[in-house]
Amino acid sequence: MGKKNTKRAASRKDDGAWHFQKDDMLELSIEDMGIDGEGIGKADGVTFFVKDAVIGDRVRVKVMKMKKNYGYARLTEIVEPSPYRVKPRCECHRQCGGCQLQALSYEKQLEFKERKVRNNLSRIGGFDNVEALMEPILGMEEPFYYRNKAQFPVGRNKEGRIVAGFYASRTHSIIPTRRCHLGDSVNERVLEIVIGFMERQGIEPYEEQSGTGLVRHVLVRKGFATGEVMVCLVINGRRLPVAELLVDELCKLDGMTSIMLNVNEKNTNVILGEELILLWGKEYITDTIGDIRYRISPLSFYQVNPVQTKKLYETALEYAGLSGTETVWDLYCGIGTISLFLARKARRVYGVEVVEKAVENARDNAKINGLSNAEFFVGKAEEVLPEFYARGGRNGEMLHPDVIVVDPPRKGCDERCLETIVKMGPGRVVYVSCDSATLARDLKYLCGNGYELVKAQAVDMFPQTVGIEVVCLLSKSHVE
Ligand code: SAH
Repeated sequence: MGKKNTKRAASRKDDGAWHFQKDDMLELSIEDMGIDGEGIGKADGVTFFVKDAVIGDRVRVKVMKMKKNYGYARLTEIVEPSPYRVKPRCECHRQCGGCQLQALSYEKQLEFKERKVRNNLSRIGGFDNVEALMEPILGMEEPFYYRNKAQFPVGRNKEGRIVAGFYASRTHSIIPTRRCHLGDSVNERVLEIVIGFMERQGIEPYEEQSGTGLVRHVLVRKGFATGEVMVCLVINGRRLPVAELLVDELCKLDGMTSIMLNVNEKNTNVILGEELILLWGKEYITDTIGDIRYRISPLSFYQVNPVQTKKLYETALEYAGLSGTETVWDLYCGIGTISLFLARKARRVYGVEVVEKAVENARDNAKINGLSNAEFFVGKAEEVLPEFYARGGRNGEMLHPDVIVVDPPRKGCDERCLETIVKMGPGRVVYVSCDSATLARDLKYLCGNGYELVKAQAVDMFPQTVGIEVVCLLSKSHVE
């Protein structure tokens, strides 16, 4: 073993506690995993976080950084692999960091996610009966190739060749890979065509430091049920030279339906700009979930895992407990996905969404499905809902809905939104969440204000990653 791996003995502090320093070498048993999928092990009572180590591993690590009561260490050797360790399918999974759990068996991934939700609900939400409330997590039969959307940054490698791939974890250096095992095989074909076109036509990739160059990202979306494909090039400008040559080639791909440009001239980490330019085909692709058809534009949010989305929406629908007479609000409704699922079983549905283009999609979606009982409003949930309430609504039923569904982004609901939900007092609240920590915080608020958590269902929308989606049913408590 090289010099680097020589074990330096940890020294004892005056108070008798063990004291570790940067570069110390240690051997640890990984007994738990943290919320970001890092392994957790203890040495002399001190907790260490070790990226890429999985539960059940015996590992050798090098201390990188010490905090007061814990430290971060780098995996240098797996002394004894965990029985739950599997061979990752992707060669660059460690560098990429997108699939934090790929080295862990799928069964254990599901256990990890269930535990994460349970811990957040009990520690942050203060619920003491979580075990009884949680239904068994819904996993996937084939936990790969499930993503219907990919966004590849484009740049140059050290040798000066144009590359596309993924950003290495927490950096902006591109790992050139056209094959991601979470995505569809059409992605590789699209990247081959786009990069070949750029090389032949001398079109420059965007360069972050100088803000020069044209092509920033390639966005690919596919409707898994319909086979329709969308390609959107995000460019630092408003025109792509000889675009017709690119269009000619992309059109040959099966299912090509929409080819667009997205203008992003800002020096920002945000991938998409606001303006879209149609190069060929339609401005959207269509996909179906269950028997509802959806039109999706590049700027609209659409769940990335259609197989699991169906399970998620069916659970939300079941929890809403509709019989056909109900009035429902669907807050953070995106392109009206959940709203339309509900509209078939409710009397009336009102959706609220902040992205205007998504609301346009939602209105079209209601039309193409022949659903005339869904209406959509553009704006922030925490503004639209309180305004309606303050104005007395358009009619009584809007003020006192039977059910309110919320599906906010990671940061959860604004308190003004929760406050108004409580005032409106629907019999049921269905909370769909992609972040169980903010979910737990918001449930605590609702349950402190007259609601009761009835059940929670975790759905694994993002296998191989630490992400987990949860649907919760709350009902108005009888005794307040
Ligand atoms: N329910 C939809 C979308 C969920 S994602 C679906 O399942 O497809 C969350 C959505 O909330 C996004 O469409 C996002 O644009 C929107 N959003 C974010 N902040 C918002 C806010 N303050 N008010 C209303 N919508 C918001």
